[in-house]
Amino acid sequence: MSGIYIHIPFCKQACHYCDFHFSTSMGKKGAMVAALRKELRLRKDEFNDEVVETIYFGGGTPSVLETEEIQSIIDSVYDNYKVAGDPEITLEANPDDLSTGKIMALAKSPVNRLSIGIQSFFEEDLKLMNRAHNASEAENCIREATAYFDNISIDLIYGVPDMDNERWKHNIDKALSFGIPHISSYALTVEPQTALASFIKKGLVKNVDDEVAQAHFYILSETLEAAGFESYEISNFGKPGYFSKNNTAYWQQKKYLGIGPSAHSYDGVRRGWNINNNPKYLRAIEKGELPMETETLSVTDTYNEYVMTGLRTIWGVSLSRIASDFGENYREYALMQAEKHLRDELLHIAGDTLLTTKKGRFLADGLASDLFMVNLG
Ligand code: SF4
Repeated sequence: MSGIYIHIPFCKQACHYCDFHFSTSMGKKGAMVAALRKELRLRKDEFNDEVVETIYFGGGTPSVLETEEIQSIIDSVYDNYKVAGDPEITLEANPDDLSTGKIMALAKSPVNRLSIGIQSFFEEDLKLMNRAHNASEAENCIREATAYFDNISIDLIYGVPDMDNERWKHNIDKALSFGIPHISSYALTVEPQTALASFIKKGLVKNVDDEVAQAHFYILSETLEAAGFESYEISNFGKPGYFSKNNTAYWQQKKYLGIGPSAHSYDGVRRGWNINNNPKYLRAIEKGELPMETETLSVTDTYNEYVMTGLRTIWGVSLSRIASDFGENYREYALMQAEKHLRDELLHIAGDTLLTTKKGRFLADGLASDLFMVNLG
């Protein structure tokens, strides 16, 4: 199983918290679509024997593309790769782009999953984040989308300054009222060089608070689990049959090809990343060159990534896989490092698998970093 990720590096405006790669100038949108199609052609030999099971349009804001542009990129995937019979094809979309006409056109295209960047149903949160949509657009677009798409995910952000538990619970309940089968939810993080970081520094906005974020996470988990969602990854909740195939493949170390500026790729041994600059990307692709750097992962890097992604998911970390893939010394090291957290009931072992407990789930990244190997090659 393998996937293709396509990065659409444009947004209408910059959200205050965001440090993803995008440009707000759309002048080169047509040239970018042509370049993405050309990169797909140039890299087809990397996926010789692979069957593509997922295609994911991320960004940036993929919904700024016309449906014909999206279709043309999907055509290039089909022209150059072996694609499974019923691939999952996801489009990240923002509410302000999802008019009824656009939703209907997308429903007729091969796109079969929408991931909508709602973030909050409250005007004050959306303003603080500088989202391009307002609260009524957030609600209307989900209502419209559910009439044409069955497989819908929405993003919600918690731990927003001044968002109390009640407002957060209201956001979750509102999301559930639409009957959607998947929710991705992240704590607001303050990335350096963002507008949010500078507002906090100047005292214009309250800083985020880990304890508030943790309380919101437990409200989220409990509410969604009671509503029949499974928390299959720390930030992802799905009804049975609706887990994101794209993300699951990524967490299970499957191969993926990342197309477009700043996109990352993984072939099982090497990780690659494309240049995160639109003009430089366009110039390189025009010359038939791949603007990509790669690194070969060491055994230790691969072990660390496995522990990091495994502890964030319901599949956990297989101790026998650690021994067989990385060596018995890695298994012993992982167990030794896990001992304190097992005692504190932040981790537990089920059969052969190391997992976070409910209490430890929110702390998964920190627990994983305690299991990281540093000095062995
Ligand atoms: S729409 Fe998404 S990618 Fe674009 S600035 Fe906002 S959060 Fe970042």
